[in-house]
Amino acid sequence: MSAFTADYAKASVRISPNHGERVDGQKPDMLILHYTGMPTAEGALDWLCRAESQVSSHYFVHENGDVVQLVPEARRAWHAGKSVWHGNTDINSASIGIEIANAGHPGGLPRYPQMQVDAVIELCRDCGERWSIAPERVLAHSDVAPRRKLDPGENFPWDLLHERGVGHWVSPAPITGGRFFQRGDQGQPVEALQSMLSLYGYGTEISGEFSDKMAGEVEAFQRHFRPERVDGIADFSTIDTLHRLLAALPRYGA
Ligand SMILES: [Zn+2]
Repeated sequence: MSAFTADYAKASVRISPNHGERVDGQKPDMLILHYTGMPTAEGALDWLCRAESQVSSHYFVHENGDVVQLVPEARRAWHAGKSVWHGNTDINSASIGIEIANAGHPGGLPRYPQMQVDAVIELCRDCGERWSIAPERVLAHSDVAPRRKLDPGENFPWDLLHERGVGHWVSPAPITGGRFFQRGDQGQPVEALQSMLSLYGYGTEISGEFSDKMAGEVEAFQRHFRPERVDGIADFSTIDTLHRLLAALPRYGA
């Protein structure tokens, strides 16, 4: 493919061959945020641009805030893999993928430098405005692929993004004692929690049984919305935070 003009004015272009048509000519209405999970940014960028990797993203954000565009927004980049949100299993056709250079869990979860966070916010705002992307559709890779993916990780400052107009967020409820649900539990309260996770968008099955898969979804939820403790146990703080997020959604709220 020949060179293209960056969709985001501040991005430089480095072409990745790893993309295709968006199915049914879809327009992106989600942003999916990733970390690279590799030791160096250059190594990660090189991998995303190599045909043999079969992976890519639309954007790549360096630690110093420099933004590179690899795939035109109109095309389907290959970043989400097997994933689901609100029943849609072709997240690549519905989204713009943003890779953030960070060594991630394998590298001991290094902090995201402020310059890099600022650049991610500005990029998300630009894409969000150009494509009218709803705040609650700015998501982590781990939200759409729980258990399989952990990125961008519990260190990613979703609260700061929200302060500056990106993404959906409520202050997490403090962690206290009280009743909780975990792997192996069954019954109506578990079913109610499954309904809430599913209503928010997670691929949770409503079975009334707290399975390993469900624990992974609770972990993914915590990693994004209650990062202080990510343990897959649905404590009061987790459930209350989810409840208030649902109430704050435009279509379910007052
Ligand atoms: Zn990812």
